Amino acid sequence: LKIGILGGGQLARMMILAGASLGIEFRVYDPDRSATAFGLAPGWVGDFDDIETLSVWAEGLDAVTTETELVPASTLAALMNRVEVRPGPHMQLVCQDRLEEKAACERLGIPVAPWRLVSSARQLEAARQRLGGELIVKARTGGYDGRGQVRVGRRGSVAQAWEALGSRAAIAEAVVGFEREVSIIGVRDSAGRILTYPVIENLHTDGILRRSIAPAPSVGVIRAQAEDIIRALMEDLGTVGVLTVEMFEVDGRLLVNELAPRVHNSGHWTLQASETSQFENHIRAVAGLPLGSTVGEGAALMWNLIGDLPDPRSVLSVPGASMHDYAKTPRPGRKVGHVTVTAACPERLRERVAAAADTGIFPAWLLDGLAAPAPAP
Ligand code: AMP
Repeated sequence: LKIGILGGGQLARMMILAGASLGIEFRVYDPDRSATAFGLAPGWVGDFDDIETLSVWAEGLDAVTTETELVPASTLAALMNRVEVRPGPHMQLVCQDRLEEKAACERLGIPVAPWRLVSSARQLEAARQRLGGELIVKARTGGYDGRGQVRVGRRGSVAQAWEALGSRAAIAEAVVGFEREVSIIGVRDSAGRILTYPVIENLHTDGILRRSIAPAPSVGVIRAQAEDIIRALMEDLGTVGVLTVEMFEVDGRLLVNELAPRVHNSGHWTLQASETSQFENHIRAVAGLPLGSTVGEGAALMWNLIGDLPDPRSVLSVPGASMHDYAKTPRPGRKVGHVTVTAACPERLRERVAAAADTGIFPAWLLDGLAAPAPAP
């Protein structure tokens, strides 16, 4: 089997590594000639809307998938005439446009933060009045990792915010006072079978994921909610492959923030702690192979390495730790790797992370939100 991946970042890299064990060959396409996945599979350089080049690239492939919402849905539609495209253009269209995402959720009765569509500074001011208070304004398309977003306070300048956003159509959202951010990852095959991974607790700063814990501690009632939400979305949108849903937990209730029709940063721990990783399951679904069990044992923490890499000799000395180096040039704010720590139970996980924080190998903030030590008998 030969699979083409649109986008050559770390997600493509990890899909290639997972698919290689199944004997699957890959071909990558990315506008950037230094794309990291080019180190693992033949790479083509071209724009995502260059249909002519893409058509040649797709020759001889059995299926095409994507690792980024930057690929226009129209490109996937054009490729569909030549090759199986999974997930298809509809899924891409919904997930690359915040308005479509909100509409899909609301159609299915899935709660989201209060929002308004805004196309001018005046409409933004009106949205602030209606939503009452602080807003996050997000460009409808093209934003990720906190880019394409501005906050507007109760008294902040709406004109300035509108300009900072590049004066493009946007969704103005009320700022939600959430207790925490969580995500759920599911996978659906072409026959409609769906499997889900445990709910994950995520910590973001400046719009970038810093740390994930799986399973999310004290998951209680939100577990069933998260599963219902992702199943409803996967069935309704008819996706094939992995879907990720990012959510806010507010008073025991989940609000959907964002969808990603692909493997996701908050699921990297599945490489070490699930019977089948998100990467392998996505590739299995795309290749038309049976899905693998998403069951996992124990607990895992994923620490995103942003800007630069720690010394692997220290990190790898931590029991249960594995380190992934994306082979990217370090740059402030850039995801260059991640560390996963696994353990048999949440308490043991905390012990391992705490010991590594004590010796300065891990930053101390990684401990926030990890299961507290059991009280002394
Ligand atoms: P997004 O690009 O929509 O995933 O937003 C990036 C991050 O900004 C989220 O992970 C949250 O930490 C924060 N954020 C986004 N929307 C809201 C909101 N409506 N209320 C509070 N925080 C938000």
